Amino acid sequence: MSAVPFTRDDYAARMARVVADAEAAGLDGVLVTPGPDLVWLTGYQPTAITERLTLLVLTTDREPTLLVPTLERPDTERAAGTAATALVDWLDGADPYAAASALLRPDGHYAISDGAWAMHLLALQAGLPHTAYDAMTTRLPMLRAVKDANELARLEAAGAAADATYEQILGVRFSGRKETDVAADLAGLLRDHGHEQVDFTVVGSGPNGANPHHEAGDRTIEVGDCVVLDFGGLMFGYGSDTSRTVCVGEPSDDIREVHEVVRLAQQAGVDAVRPGVACQEVDRAARAVITDAGYGEQFIHRTGHGIGTTTHEPPYMIEGEEQRLVPGMCFSVEPGIYLAGRFGVRIEDIVTVTDTAGRRLNNTDRALQVVE
Ligand code: ZN
Ligand code: ZN
Ligand code: ZN
Repeated sequence: MSAVPFTRDDYAARMARVVADAEAAGLDGVLVTPGPDLVWLTGYQPTAITERLTLLVLTTDREPTLLVPTLERPDTERAAGTAATALVDWLDGADPYAAASALLRPDGHYAISDGAWAMHLLALQAGLPHTAYDAMTTRLPMLRAVKDANELARLEAAGAAADATYEQILGVRFSGRKETDVAADLAGLLRDHGHEQVDFTVVGSGPNGANPHHEAGDRTIEVGDCVVLDFGGLMFGYGSDTSRTVCVGEPSDDIREVHEVVRLAQQAGVDAVRPGVACQEVDRAARAVITDAGYGEQFIHRTGHGIGTTTHEPPYMIEGEEQRLVPGMCFSVEPGIYLAGRFGVRIEDIVTVTDTAGRRLNNTDRALQVVE
């Protein structure tokens, strides 16, 4: 299995769109340091992110320009998107911030990558004290939110691989093994099914399932445990993220009841997805089912997050988010109920917005499955 490579023109179009969005937001441009924005805009990811400044400067008044350390220039030139930028390199011993300042307006207002190192931003500010900066996500939250067909194909492939992983994990032994053992099985299966990177493998058994961000620990899984499984990583550079909750042996009535509430809530969240609907409406639809069943206080996180070149990014399905859904957006719908000291249940699918509705990229059975 392979992905269709992104072309120079794909990257050039993204860069042009970013400049237009920045201008519409009243900014003079955006400054991009290594990380998911740079990968998305150029296909370039330095092998190691170091103290040496690498900076893509996208402004309204000049062509896209990528400032790179001279020693990394050959690597940079191999990335398809850098063919659409001017490359400026700086040699060790030179001042990269002076080189960057020469590309900026002394009174400019820029958005800069969320993950830019403080040392770089502080040095830029010191060199040009009348420039202003905002975090990328604050000013241009939807930068990467709408996926094109090639990006969607990668997310679909990642989702299918995560689904295949889930189907296989149902066949492994849970009882008598540690959470970390099942987590290792999940990681191996994700890689077997084509993931180049595994980011998280949550195995929350019994009371550990009541902590939404419990990863996996030393606890030995027992018959009767409810087990939250939540796993994902990157395939062809795009994320997977799915959760199912299984029971080791026959579930108790409590587990059955809570699981069914979460299943209906997740369905309601997905059913609320269509173009033009505010993100908060997806959260409200899922939350209403859980609140009506009496578990509102036990649903302690937002309903979903965007996914793309990272596994958590805008748009967020959360109360107060009035951003409207647009075809091509991809995000999770993952309500849960967490009963402290007892167990938790979460069901999560990645959903994409079509022209008329939501379409799941995870399609494994959402009914409560019994494992050994
Ligand atoms: Zn999370
Ligand atoms: Zn997840
Ligand atoms: Zn998630």
